[in-house]
Amino acid sequence: MTTPSENESAAPSDFIRDAVAEDIRTGKRKQICTRFPPEPNGYLHIGHAKAICLNFGIAHEFGGVCNVRMDDTNPTKEEAEYVDSIMFDVHWLIDGWANKNLGRAPGFASDYFDQLYTYAVELVRKGKAYVCDMTPEETDEYRRLGKEGPFRNRSVDENLDFLARMKAGEFPDGARTLRAKIDMSAPNVWLRDPVLYRIRHAEHHQTGNKWCIYPMYDFAHTLSDYIEGITHSVCTLEFEVHRPLYEWLLEALELPAPRPHQYEFARLNINYTVMSKRKLMQLVNDGLVNGWDDPRMPTISGIRRRGMTASALRVFAYNIGITKYPSMTDVAVLEHTVREEFNRTSPRRLAVLRPIKVVITNYPEGQVEELDAVNNPEDPAGGSRKIPFSRELFIDSADFTETPPPKYFRLKPGSEVRLKYAYIIKCDEVVKDENGEVIELRCTADLESKSGGATSSRKIKGTIHWVSASQAIDAEVRLYDRLFTVAEPDGDFKTLLNPHSLEVVAAKCEPSLKDADSNVRYQFERLGYFALDPDSQPGKLVFNRTITLKDTWAKMEGRAPSRP
Ligand code: ATP
Ligand code: MG
Repeated sequence: MTTPSENESAAPSDFIRDAVAEDIRTGKRKQICTRFPPEPNGYLHIGHAKAICLNFGIAHEFGGVCNVRMDDTNPTKEEAEYVDSIMFDVHWLIDGWANKNLGRAPGFASDYFDQLYTYAVELVRKGKAYVCDMTPEETDEYRRLGKEGPFRNRSVDENLDFLARMKAGEFPDGARTLRAKIDMSAPNVWLRDPVLYRIRHAEHHQTGNKWCIYPMYDFAHTLSDYIEGITHSVCTLEFEVHRPLYEWLLEALELPAPRPHQYEFARLNINYTVMSKRKLMQLVNDGLVNGWDDPRMPTISGIRRRGMTASALRVFAYNIGITKYPSMTDVAVLEHTVREEFNRTSPRRLAVLRPIKVVITNYPEGQVEELDAVNNPEDPAGGSRKIPFSRELFIDSADFTETPPPKYFRLKPGSEVRLKYAYIIKCDEVVKDENGEVIELRCTADLESKSGGATSSRKIKGTIHWVSASQAIDAEVRLYDRLFTVAEPDGDFKTLLNPHSLEVVAAKCEPSLKDADSNVRYQFERLGYFALDPDSQPGKLVFNRTITLKDTWAKMEGRAPSRP
């Protein structure tokens, strides 16, 4: 799925890319290096995709590299499974576009634990960090009040001794911390002597039992950026208040230039979903979805399984742009991007989701004819294929009604409809079972009305899809809708799930789909775009509806279909 999209060639412009371009123009930076720093405590979501496309995009556009660095400073929460899934998602998303810009991947903050500890000792020597014996609660309280604690003015030697003994494992969890000595009365709380190291006697998935003190995020992150030669350290807005600490650390250690610089942008929020690993984890653990890669999830793995492509995600990430203003992106913008790509690239096929049998009474029993069907009207080179037509067919039950509303142009008793690529048929008789359910429609065809026939140009308002019964193949089709019923599901979000977000139907498909390719997105005519699900097995096809053909929610919400 590496087909480049039309829009992808046009590199976007934003305040971060402008800063990068300026640094190159002035000669401040020769080689651009960015990084993507996920915490391996869950699967990546589409918000991370925005950050990946930005960081790799910059590397790609400016001939630089982008490192993936696992923020694994919290030994108790992280798992190797997540590291693997993160790397899989990153490769998938940037494949065929920026792989050459992939730097260290995966790297780990823990790769630098030795060097980080050396920096910590250096800060103590410079009188810029101290060992504090207050409890975590006292520390928080003093920082909130802007009050200096009793351990702030320990001597350098005493601090060096305590730090070494913390590292040697002499003290229990929480007994002491290493804190930066900055300014307890600073208006910015992050500068009120933040904790740099904490004691945590826990095994780490990369470093095992080597360490019992672990660096805090800000300390590890800033100095890992420096060690890796990161030029532009791009993060989301909530880190804006951390930037003075980022700069303080580089300055306090008197690190020689070039130093990294931090830039912040607004995170991606999308309506009708939740976008935090913590909440997504609850959906998974409570069994409210079928795993991290459930096609209803906003995870990259869920979006991929649903059938969306990396190229569509990249176009989406480019189109929404990078700003400093928090906002909510309408999921319709993502859906529009996907439809636009698939409309160009998807071969058309006929499939019937909820079959109802149709017998063409004036068509000879046992006769099968092969009709021509266009593969993709948007692609003149796409050619055509043959589809079988016979006396017994299936149409979708939604395309027939006995009690038609006004302007109903599909099939109804006594009236006509055109079967796509085939004949005009008229419904003569409705056969029902003992419960009154319609089980068969008996129709006659205008046998001169197919392409090339005498009445082929006869005007009929409705055209419906169909498949020939004896040649049709079975498929399980999973139809998805939004996971939540409200646009901004916060608070008690698990009570706001859409009970109709997944519907499974037993569909009938045209025979050519027997060889369906998992790399292809098919348009089932009039029904949407579909992708093979990995649950498919030889002889048992499973399709996911990636997306419908039109934005059905636009109508319900009384807004115009979104056209960004
Ligand atoms: P979450 O709150 O979902 O758990 P996080 O920020 O804790 O996300 P990290 O693994 O720490 O997740 O994030 C890795 C990178 O992805 C960070 O640089 C972060 O700023 C960025 N990122 C996370 N969420 C978003 C988002 N919604 N939009 C854009 N970038 C994001
Ligand atoms: Mg985080």
